[in-house]
Amino acid sequence: MTDNKKLMYGNEAVARGAYEAGVSLVAGYPGTPSTEIVESATQYPEIEVRWSVNEKIAVETAVGVSKGGGRAMAVMKHVGLNVAADAFMNVSYTGVNGGLVIVSADDPGMHSSQNEQDNRWYALMAKITLLEPSDSQETKDFTQLAFEISEKYDVPVLLRLTTRICHSKGIVICEERNKIPAKKYEINISKYVNIPSNARQNRLKILERQQKLKELSNTIEINTRFPGKGKKGIITSGVSYQYVQEISEEMPILKLGMTYPIPDKLIKKFCQLFEQVTVVEELDGFLETQILALGCHNVEKKPESFTLGELNPHRVENLLKGKTEEITDYYPKPGKSPAMCSGCSYLGVFSVLKKMNLLVEGDIGCYTLGALPPMNALHSFLCMGAGMGMANGLSTQLPNQTKEKLVAVIGDSTFVHSGLPELVDMVYHGFEGLVIILDNRTTAMTGMQEHPGTGKNRKGEPLTTQLDLVEVAKALGATYVKKVLSSRLGVLERAFEKGLAHEGVAVVIAEEPCRHLEKGFDTVVSVNHKTCILCNECLNIGCSAISKENNAITISNPLCIGCQICTSICPSGALKLPIMIQKSRSE
Ligand code: SF4
Ligand code: SF4
Repeated sequence: MTDNKKLMYGNEAVARGAYEAGVSLVAGYPGTPSTEIVESATQYPEIEVRWSVNEKIAVETAVGVSKGGGRAMAVMKHVGLNVAADAFMNVSYTGVNGGLVIVSADDPGMHSSQNEQDNRWYALMAKITLLEPSDSQETKDFTQLAFEISEKYDVPVLLRLTTRICHSKGIVICEERNKIPAKKYEINISKYVNIPSNARQNRLKILERQQKLKELSNTIEINTRFPGKGKKGIITSGVSYQYVQEISEEMPILKLGMTYPIPDKLIKKFCQLFEQVTVVEELDGFLETQILALGCHNVEKKPESFTLGELNPHRVENLLKGKTEEITDYYPKPGKSPAMCSGCSYLGVFSVLKKMNLLVEGDIGCYTLGALPPMNALHSFLCMGAGMGMANGLSTQLPNQTKEKLVAVIGDSTFVHSGLPELVDMVYHGFEGLVIILDNRTTAMTGMQEHPGTGKNRKGEPLTTQLDLVEVAKALGATYVKKVLSSRLGVLERAFEKGLAHEGVAVVIAEEPCRHLEKGFDTVVSVNHKTCILCNECLNIGCSAISKENNAITISNPLCIGCQICTSICPSGALKLPIMIQKSRSE
């Protein structure tokens, strides 16, 4: 492989594309499958890379850079675009100055997401350009192209990836960074201030822009026809193109790289050539719906099962042969359930929540796993920050004896992302109950990203300012605020009791660093089988280091990190750390 050829994940290729396109800023919020785009961008010192507090702020920051004349990219997973939707929809009206690209990484099959929404509809709603690459090379090339289109047509561009594109490797030819001079920043009130009179004018401009973009879509070389044999044609895009290719290289294909606006003339012409045309696309019939609306009646509407989950060559073959599917075709058989890491400080928190039989409105993070057995101690989650909002609403519907057991649980990063206004709203509307902030000093679930509450910048360097969650909670109106170590279960329980009994909004911050941030303890617990009464209390905390074999409690030495959560709940004192270690800890 020559020097300029590199094997890259799709996510790395996006970052490379941004680098070569002369991008000034990449801002994003971590979330699988897009996280590595931002992380990979950090290798290019020419780019300012930011983990924004949330996706809306990432888009707004990118809009600001674009307005100032630089090229900017905002990166998020698909549900992040819901958070950013307000800025996203409105920047379609203002247009851009420097190129503006928003990357949405969708997750068909829900490998690590709560839904599999198809974000291509966002492009249609916002009337902005949509590009869908089908391998790593295209991912890099389309990223660069997106900036060119953005500037030429005064339009933000949505680069839509899916998990397979993000996390698959392919050869990418790397080139030098383009030296793009920043455009001049100009105050332009009619463009950037969308009061209704300006917005109406800008709406008309969008119509004109759409016409030009349609023409582009009909002529751009990334919308290409590949000749083949037979009376059936295929229209496809993104990773689905790869699956079609795997089945047969002989089928006539119209491969679309620019999927909104669709190339209407090109599609009509293609459809006229065949008796039957199948649209092969993951998730919704986004292309199919638009193509049928063009009057291409030889296009077959796909059965609903093919709107579920990821496609693969086997499923595409089924689709093309008109075969029906079993549920296991589109969603994999459930395997071993995910679990919190052994010794995770959240284990102790959830064992207390369970012991107190509390009703827990949860949120998004590692702690969502508190819903799984043996804990079963988290009872709902919806989206970022929603646990607090749902508790706020649910409390109005519950009888007093249940209301007294209601708590909202939220992680530190999620609290900063979207919990702050939730707390303001709770205080404002007289919520009486407890919010538990699980502060593990990082954004653990997505790979240990810093946030304003950690007191470190993206590179892990200490900052002079740190968001103090205790002071923030007090400042926002919580009248009982207590910080406790999450592994001190007795203290935790008393703090929860006090918080629940408090009149007004109570906040308990259960703090202890994620175990992956620490060097680790140098010991394991041991079981005294003579004193163990086999009560199973230690099994109920859900630590994966603890199991029961041949009717005896067993501790896995490689997994145990000596956190002592189990020792503090064992009623018979059968679980013990070696004395030397206990001594050194108490010193
Ligand atoms: S000390 Fe107990 S809870 Fe902690 S990791 Fe070891 S077995 Fe698990
Ligand atoms: S908590 Fe203690 S007594 Fe109960 S099963 Fe575990 S080791 Fe035995």
